[in-house]
Amino acid sequence: MAAEQSTAIVLRTVEFSETSLIVTLLTRDLGRVSAIAKGARRPKGPFEGALDLLAVCRVVVLRKSSDSLDLLTEAKLHKRFRGGERSLERVYGGYYMAEMLRLLTDDHDPHPDVYDLTIRTLQQIDGSGEVGSSLTYFDAQILRMLGHSPGTDLCTDCGCEVKCSGRIAFSLTSGGIVCDQCRARQRQTISVRVGVIEEIRRLQASTTELPTHVPEDLYGELRAILNRYIQTVVGSVPRMQPFLPSVTRTETNA
Ligand SMILES: [Zn+2]
Repeated sequence: MAAEQSTAIVLRTVEFSETSLIVTLLTRDLGRVSAIAKGARRPKGPFEGALDLLAVCRVVVLRKSSDSLDLLTEAKLHKRFRGGERSLERVYGGYYMAEMLRLLTDDHDPHPDVYDLTIRTLQQIDGSGEVGSSLTYFDAQILRMLGHSPGTDLCTDCGCEVKCSGRIAFSLTSGGIVCDQCRARQRQTISVRVGVIEEIRRLQASTTELPTHVPEDLYGELRAILNRYIQTVVGSVPRMQPFLPSVTRTETNA
């Protein structure tokens, strides 16, 4: 049983006993971790507010054998999530990120890039960044980092070039765009503007530190297709998905 340290983001806490919590953490070095935090529910317990949802903290975890929960022995608060002091949109945005991370990551499978993306996006959501664009950028990037990118270049069924004019067919079963020939064979396709596919490509390719602004006129359609695509990837409708912003603002520095 080895003690391991990492920085971590709190994704969920569930009451376990009168005094303990089970916490789900996204750690930078150990991946997602589910651990018991003994005494966390006691007033003046050992974790002192470090285990609030989306708090960033430094943790020490004792790894247990395969089928028992790890043990959280230390958590030192670095930064609290304060979106709730600003707007409901920011709170829901934070909850959405926590849910997406729980759904898309696996225990003990570290992705430092996903962790860093989450920290950057949280800074936007918790600060003055624009929520709709920030979360759309987060989704596009996390899907790419975890190997779930939607196909946006060639036909995802036959691999040929897809004629890019006007509208384009996106197949949920194939996980990307399809050509006119393959379209008829697909069970679930959505017709989208070419501009939306180009925007997904742009968001996924972007390597800027900050989330890039999603144009207002593309956002609704882009969000709709990403939502459906994510439902296919995770096999359910994320609970916070209906609470995503329905518009983006024109100003990026709003
Ligand atoms: Zn095809």
